[in-house]
Amino acid sequence: MSDHTKLSAALFDRASAVTPGGVNSPVRAFRAVGGVPRFMASGDGCHITDVDGNTYVDLVCSWGPMLLGHAHPEVTAAVQAAVGRGTSYGTPTQPEVELGEEIVARTPVDKVRLVSSGTEATMSALRLARGATGRAKIVKFAGCYHGHVDALLAQAGSGVITLGIPGTPGVTEATTADTIVLPYNDQAAVTQAFAQYGDQIAAVITEASPGNMGVVPPVGHFNDFLARTCKDNGALFISDEVMTGFRITRSGFWGLGSDTVAPDLMTFGKVMGGGFPAAAFGGRADLMAQLAPEGSVYQAGTLSGNPVATTAGLTTLRLATDEVYAQLDRTAETIRRIVGMALSRAGVPYRTQNAGNLFSFFFVESSDEVTRRITDFAGAGAQVLPRYAAFFHAMLDNGVYLPPSAFEAWFVSAAVDDDALATIEKAASVAARAAA
Ligand code: PLP
Repeated sequence: MSDHTKLSAALFDRASAVTPGGVNSPVRAFRAVGGVPRFMASGDGCHITDVDGNTYVDLVCSWGPMLLGHAHPEVTAAVQAAVGRGTSYGTPTQPEVELGEEIVARTPVDKVRLVSSGTEATMSALRLARGATGRAKIVKFAGCYHGHVDALLAQAGSGVITLGIPGTPGVTEATTADTIVLPYNDQAAVTQAFAQYGDQIAAVITEASPGNMGVVPPVGHFNDFLARTCKDNGALFISDEVMTGFRITRSGFWGLGSDTVAPDLMTFGKVMGGGFPAAAFGGRADLMAQLAPEGSVYQAGTLSGNPVATTAGLTTLRLATDEVYAQLDRTAETIRRIVGMALSRAGVPYRTQNAGNLFSFFFVESSDEVTRRITDFAGAGAQVLPRYAAFFHAMLDNGVYLPPSAFEAWFVSAAVDDDALATIEKAASVAARAAA
């Protein structure tokens, strides 16, 4: 056992004795890259420090939420004050109203319902879509992850592909019998599915710009095509912005302006909780009115709209101004450039793709593929995984924490500064050679 991971290794042993795989969410394990997951003890700005005292520039950011970096003083102060007032009442509170107002102001949704996780958001949006249309079938895309909702755990991207499983035992055939899985960005496949099942399809759900198979943005105005196809067939279009919402722009992928047809329903999470469990689904007023207690589609949650979580989210969103997003874009661009240059110098074939400040690197097989855009799950899957593992570990050993899977997006925070960029540049030149 290496000295610099001694305490993480000891904790991992203890964790493995009481928790399956030693982790409380599979993506945290180092299954795909090997080695001992690092147990973090603290975070400050763009850095996280593990129990052995190793500090890393954090390019995971809790898988998205930490847009402003760790322990942001204003978010921390607001949360501390909220905790001091009491942590949960099971009654409506002011911060949840204000967070709802902020979301409605930033996005195309008319009304929003707060929940505690992205999984709950997509699960509830599906239920509402089925309730509102009286139809059963849903369309999802291979490589898109929408949380561990039973009906959506079919070809669900990063978490499951990292473990090499297409779906999961425990989700019965009956549960996914109404789920139609299509290749992403494939308009012909969507048209054909609607020709076959049109009057049975309640909704099409997609990540607004997928980040769970690596970053694979929509091409050919795919989202608008989906929205229009749904409309023409009496189905609903659900855009999942759990990862992209409030991260790519003030609203999310929608804010880039490439989509023009507003989704019927949208889902949000991650950034809007400011590091606490808060998520939401929202959409057209007439649809949202069908939710209990106004309507009859039931949905609820003991900790939904929790005052501490909503305070953290609200404070984060209020601090996330246009300048912050401009800075995030610049930082992401710089990291893509310096890592790309290091890989090129070492002769490692790669592709990098992005949706605003959300990006990833694909370790492709040969230089022929470098210019070929990856548009679906099959393309994203054709990576040289051992190269990523070598790259990941060399980055880690040189002070940069990347997602421990080749099928994940990299996340930047507004706290990344010039020193951190210098650390990334130095680490990347070593890691690129390790991946060659
Ligand atoms: N939807 C998308 C696009 C996601 O990326 C995720 C999580 O990574 C989810 C839904 C599920 O969110 P949560 O992990 O909060 O349940």
